[in-house]
Amino acid sequence: MGYVYLLHFDKPLKHAKHYIGYAENDVEQRLEKHKSGQGARLLQVITEKGIGFKLAKTWNNASRSFERALKNKKNAPRFCPICKSIKAGRVPIIVKGKLIATIDVSAISR
Ligand SMILES: [Zn+2]
Repeated sequence: MGYVYLLHFDKPLKHAKHYIGYAENDVEQRLEKHKSGQGARLLQVITEKGIGFKLAKTWNNASRSFERALKNKKNAPRFCPICKSIKAGRVPIIVKGKLIATIDVSAISR
């Protein structure tokens, strides 16, 4: 068992706006690898293009087959809390590349 994680890109690359990956023990370590251009080809390309990404969600105690099942659904925005919050008119709060909360803007402007 490990971690399945969902990355949300700052800008879409063609139609890709998310990456779902699997890490055996440490997601943070895996993300550092991605940022240095190692690992997944898609993330190499977006890093080369200067597109950043955020860790939108992590599933703990998850398996590779769970990762595959999520990928096969081809509907990452439905699982992505960043996309969901924007759609709902909320603002995602991201600290150190990681989604920590979402805020209802209408509550602030009131
Ligand atoms: Zn998203």
